[in-house]
Amino acid sequence: MTRPPPRDASRDLYRRPKSRPAAPPQSTAKPTPADPDTAAKVVTSLANPVVKELRALHLKKERAESGLFLAEGLKLVTDALEESWPIRTLVHASRVKDQPLVKRAVATARARGALVLEVSDEVLTKICRRDNPQMVVAAFEQRLRRLADLTTPTGVWVALEGIKDPGNLGTVVRTVDSVGASGVILLGDVTDPFALEAVRATMGSLFHVPLIAATLDEFAAWKRARGIPVWGTHLRGAVDYRSVDWPETCVLMMGNEQSGLSDAHVEVCDGIVKIPMAGKADSLNLAVATAVMLYEIRRARLTV
Ligand code: SAM
Repeated sequence: MTRPPPRDASRDLYRRPKSRPAAPPQSTAKPTPADPDTAAKVVTSLANPVVKELRALHLKKERAESGLFLAEGLKLVTDALEESWPIRTLVHASRVKDQPLVKRAVATARARGALVLEVSDEVLTKICRRDNPQMVVAAFEQRLRRLADLTTPTGVWVALEGIKDPGNLGTVVRTVDSVGASGVILLGDVTDPFALEAVRATMGSLFHVPLIAATLDEFAAWKRARGIPVWGTHLRGAVDYRSVDWPETCVLMMGNEQSGLSDAHVEVCDGIVKIPMAGKADSLNLAVATAVMLYEIRRARLTV
């Protein structure tokens, strides 16, 4: 078997012509044990009440009562801190306490009045309820906006009717972020956007994309008052989504995973489009359909 020739990095088509600047050298200075920015309360007991409270945030009821949710991983926690999401508790594994980015997150969390705990891997496994947990976990306050706050909407908003799958919701939020759309409107009875699976699937976009919760009646009244065009997507749509001259400001409405867009929601729309289907599949996955739509609607405004 002939081996492929070794890859020539200088001919890598995916690279920008100019190479990126080299990453700044990371500090190798060891923190002193008494460093006030990194000294944390050390917890090794699984019975610690804070550990129990954090663990309880896996339950929807506890999240609803406390108004808090968990974000796992240094990237998500850093994204949230950079967007100034109110933080209550930050937990990190003892073995990462000297990492510069962890120290910075700890210092920021502490400066904002959060409780900081340094814990054993065993405690982190318990909080995250899984083996191989992330080394940094934090509890933040939930932030859901109301339509009434959105008086002059601009850009593309995605309205989701009764979305049920947290992974789909997280993926939609991430896609909205990726195309530079404005936000997500959750209509009716939906999966909890602050469930761990949804938060994970956003990959941090949760902290950059406004989420709004509304009933269909509130949405219909808001749409009338603001005069914003609403386009629905439906398998029975007769208009090809590529034939529309998409306005800069509009709402894209997507249906529920099982039942699609209901008649009541179709009523609120100014037009219904379909993504052509050539094979034997009945429909696209909700998050995939949203991505296809968003990339078409925002096509003229996206450049590499
Ligand atoms: N059984 C459902 C139905 O009959 O509508 C399928 C719902 S589909 C899994 C979830 C949502 O994705 C739909 O409500 C619609 O918003 C969107 N969708 C999926 N495939 C689509 C397509 N080919 N054209 C337009 N929208 C589509």
